[in-house]
Amino acid sequence: MKKLYYENCHLKEFSAAVTGCEEKDGLWEITLDATAFYPEGGGQPWDLGTLADANVLQVKERGEEIIHLCDKPLAVGERVSGAVDWQRRLDLMQQHTGEHILSGLIHKTFGYHNVGFHMGKQMVEIDFDGPISWEQAMDLEKQANQAVWDNLPVNCSVPSPEELEKAVYRSKRKLPWPVRIVEIPGIDSCACCGVHTKTTGEVGLIKIVSCAKFHDGVRLELVCGGRAYEYMAAIFEENRKISQLLSAKMPETFQAVQRLSDGLNEEKLRAAALQKQVFESTAKDYVNQENVVHFEDDLTGGQLRLLAEKISGVCSGFAAVFSSAGDGFDYCLAQPGADLRQLGKDMNQTLGGRGGGKPEFQQGHLGARREEILSFFGK
Ligand SMILES: [Zn+2]
Repeated sequence: MKKLYYENCHLKEFSAAVTGCEEKDGLWEITLDATAFYPEGGGQPWDLGTLADANVLQVKERGEEIIHLCDKPLAVGERVSGAVDWQRRLDLMQQHTGEHILSGLIHKTFGYHNVGFHMGKQMVEIDFDGPISWEQAMDLEKQANQAVWDNLPVNCSVPSPEELEKAVYRSKRKLPWPVRIVEIPGIDSCACCGVHTKTTGEVGLIKIVSCAKFHDGVRLELVCGGRAYEYMAAIFEENRKISQLLSAKMPETFQAVQRLSDGLNEEKLRAAALQKQVFESTAKDYVNQENVVHFEDDLTGGQLRLLAEKISGVCSGFAAVFSSAGDGFDYCLAQPGADLRQLGKDMNQTLGGRGGGKPEFQQGHLGARREEILSFFGK
């Protein structure tokens, strides 16, 4: 079984003889005498594509064989043509080689090891066993892109056991020979079974999306190549819309949003001060009155409490303040120094409510109509 993907990582179409075809749960496990379909391995997902008129749904390694899980059977002994889904393969190679460039630079700079690698549908996640700040990550990203522009070769080789013994590379541990070494001159050397781009230039673009503390080190989220372009284009478009909305130049949207946010906070403070004045003015109507029942539309919880406080501060009895909410009314009962718990309980029981609080301050919600509430208070 020839692994054509190792001989030529750009091989998109090939022809091979079918050596086996076995049914498995309604699908067919097909083996060939040669394949350009990369099976899952080294963190890199399998290739998709077609074999004759069958779709290749999954590719995995089993012993010496590579199994192509297909949706149709193929005749054993027949020669078939295979086509690899190139968009997917190129994307996966860009992510994988980009990961090697960055992991190599981080290893060279800090001596950290890549201790976790996951190639997701959207992002590539890499875990390192030491801390990296966002500023350091941005510096590494720049160096990684410099390595892309330098268009370095990505050399894959299988050294002899003696050469391997002497070689310096990442992920060096006791692996059964043969061990495949992927080397990017001056950047990285690593044991890896994945399929890589021919040169670093093919990676196109490397963008670190996040750098967050993870165990004793960090987890980096990364996008490379076409994914990086799509990601950056989407962020650019968001920023373009923000810039139009705020009439700010695109490189200055942060300052514009900062100004907007500061202005909004000032307005909130101003609105709260005005609200307080309005409530104080409302409370004036109840000076020296005994028990007060007051209705107001659309108050927030905080406003309801504030108004109840203001009214109970000037009347001689309790202040019962209501604001329409959903199918009924939110309420606040307030009277400094009094115990309103029994009143609250009675009200909840009679008017289908729930609530509670401190003796002198009860709040909750009633599922009742305005007339029912007024009648409860004998008004
Ligand atoms: Zn690798």
